[in-house]
Amino acid sequence: MPAVTWESQAVDGGARAGVLHTPHGPVKTPAFMPVGTRAAVKAVDVDDLEAISAEIILSNTYHLMLRPGADLIDQLGGLHGFMGWDGPILTDSGGYQIFSLGPDITEEGASFKSIYDGARVNLTPEESVSVQERLGPDIAMVLDVCVGLPAPRQTVEAEMRRTLRWAERCLKAHTRPDQELFGIVQGGVDAELRAESAAATAALDFAGFGIGGLSVGESAEERNLALDAAIAQLPSHKPRYVMGLGDTEGLLEAIGRGADMFDCVLPTRLARHGKALSSTGDFNINTLGNESDQTPIDPDCSCSTCGKHSKAYLRHLIRMKELSAYRLLSIHNLHYTLSLIAAARAAIEAGHFDVFLTGVMSARADGSP
Ligand SMILES: [Zn+2]
Repeated sequence: MPAVTWESQAVDGGARAGVLHTPHGPVKTPAFMPVGTRAAVKAVDVDDLEAISAEIILSNTYHLMLRPGADLIDQLGGLHGFMGWDGPILTDSGGYQIFSLGPDITEEGASFKSIYDGARVNLTPEESVSVQERLGPDIAMVLDVCVGLPAPRQTVEAEMRRTLRWAERCLKAHTRPDQELFGIVQGGVDAELRAESAAATAALDFAGFGIGGLSVGESAEERNLALDAAIAQLPSHKPRYVMGLGDTEGLLEAIGRGADMFDCVLPTRLARHGKALSSTGDFNINTLGNESDQTPIDPDCSCSTCGKHSKAYLRHLIRMKELSAYRLLSIHNLHYTLSLIAAARAAIEAGHFDVFLTGVMSARADGSP
C-alpha cells in the first residue's frame, strides 16, 4: 500500500471530489496548498494556517537545501518537527526555481548559482530525491525541466523527454517508505506533447502526478488545452496536481477539468502588495474611497480579518507598512482561496459545479468594490 493514496468521493462532469490519505492525515480534494517557501508561509504562522483550515502546505526544496540545509532540518525532526506543523506537507523538487535562474542543464542534472552566496550548486534527480527524503514531507516531487514559454517545439519536446528520463531516475533513487513521489507532466502548451508526457509518466509507478510548466506566461486557453490533453492520459484513481496555479478563474477551470491539488504564492504575495481577493472581484486596498469605508474586505468572508477589521483600517495599515497588515491581508487572501476550493468541492458533491462556476464568475464580473 503506498503511503499516499487518493480516494474518489464524487464526480460531477469532469470535476471530482475526494480525499488524499497521507501519513500526516487526510486532505479533502480539491485542495489548495499555501506556499511556505522557506519553511514558513509568509506573514502567517502555523496557528493561523490551522485557523483558516489549511490541510496541507507546500515547501521549497531549492531554498531549504541552500538555507538552512537538508541535514539540519533532518536532525531537527524533518520539516514537520522543524516548523511545528503536524499536517501533511508536499515539497517541490526545486525544478521551477532553478530553471528561473537560467541553469546549465546536462543529462546528469542542473548546475546553477546559489542566490544566497553565488556558490555553484549541482542538483541531480537523485540528489533532489535525497534532499526531499531528509526534509521528510509526505509527498516529494521529481526533478523536472521547466521550460519558459513561448519556446520552440523542439526545445519543449527535448526537455519533456529529459523530464521523463529524470523521473525514472528519481523513482529508482527513492527509498523512504513513509513518503510518496509524484511524477511531473511537462510538454508546454502543445497538446500532443502533453499527452505523450502524461501517458509515459502515468506508466511509471508514481502515487500521483504534477502537471508542471504552466502559469509561465501562457494564455488561459493554452493552459486549459494543455490540462485537457494531460488529464485525459492520467489514471482516474490517482491525484492530479496543477503546479503554481492559484487565481480564482484558473483554479475553477482546472477543477472543472479534473484537477485535485494546487499551490500558488499569489494569495500571500498579493497581500503584501495590499491587494485583496474578493468574491466581488479582487481590488487594491489603497483604492480611493476605502479611506473611510467601515465595511470588511469581503462581506461574504468568515475570516478573522473580515470579522474584526474594516477596509479603512487595513488601508491605513498597508499605507503605514505596519507589519500586522501583511498578516491580516494574508489570512484573508488564503481564507478566500481555501473557502473557494471548499465551496467548489461542496458544489461537486451536490452535482451542480457548473452552476457554481457561473455564479462565482458573474459575481466577480459584476462586483464593483
Ligand atoms: Zn476575509
